[in-house]
Amino acid sequence: MKIDVITLFPGIFNGFLEESIIKKAQKRKVVGISLVDLRQFGEGRHLTCDDSPYGGGAGMVMKCAPLFKAVQEVSRKNSHVILMSPQGKILNQAMANKLAKKKQLTIICGRYEGIDERVRARLVDEEISIGDFVVSGGEIPAMVLVEAVVRLLPGAISKQESYEKDSFYNGLLDWPHYTRPAIYNKMKVPAVLLSGNHMAIEKWRREQAEKATKINRPELWASYLRSTKAIRTRNSKREIHLPVRARSSKSEKQ
Ligand code: SAH
Repeated sequence: MKIDVITLFPGIFNGFLEESIIKKAQKRKVVGISLVDLRQFGEGRHLTCDDSPYGGGAGMVMKCAPLFKAVQEVSRKNSHVILMSPQGKILNQAMANKLAKKKQLTIICGRYEGIDERVRARLVDEEISIGDFVVSGGEIPAMVLVEAVVRLLPGAISKQESYEKDSFYNGLLDWPHYTRPAIYNKMKVPAVLLSGNHMAIEKWRREQAEKATKINRPELWASYLRSTKAIRTRNSKREIHLPVRARSSKSEKQ
């Protein structure tokens, strides 16, 4: 995948691109991430990228021309242009999964009051928000998006398992994790995790994940119950009713 990030403040990305999974993913050629400094497309002697709003009012608006030029510069046949915006759809795992299948993403980071509406109308395929609050620029939201997408790309993290069991992937939150030592300051790791009984561990983890989802995210729990209803109905018929009837008819015969 190729990701082009258009920003007035490329320096904000320095540490982010040079550490951990994002660094490794670039090194392994799983992803190529380029920063496009919007300033180089600015106008006039001062390479201006913003101006005061038509109609008056406080704040500045990012101008059309630099953004049109920057997007054009990185555009390819399969480009998917995303604007980070509090007015967009709130990012979730399903959206990240879908974006992870794209060949290229162009991400526009807004600043000030935001961008000229004509950029949004003409160039943007999708507006994405990181939540119902406002931050001062699209750079941190863009990093959130890049990290959510890149970790899903094949080869970015060593075991596919490590994201398939994460929160949201299967509609539930994650279960609690523990590591050595087994007792720390008199606090014990649940005995089941030390038992070596894999079935019991699986069961405990699922129960914990369900409990956390039910308490912390009731709306997520409700949609999980809806989506698994059919499966549970089928299973409960198979696992509870059928064997019970089968057993009782056998004992009747005896
Ligand atoms: N006036 C705008 C906010 C502008 S904040 C409004 O009220 O909607 C400046 C820039 O920060 C935005 O253009 C956007 O790129 C980014 N931004 C702020 N909050 C964001 C959020 N929750 N999600 C994604 N991007 C956000």
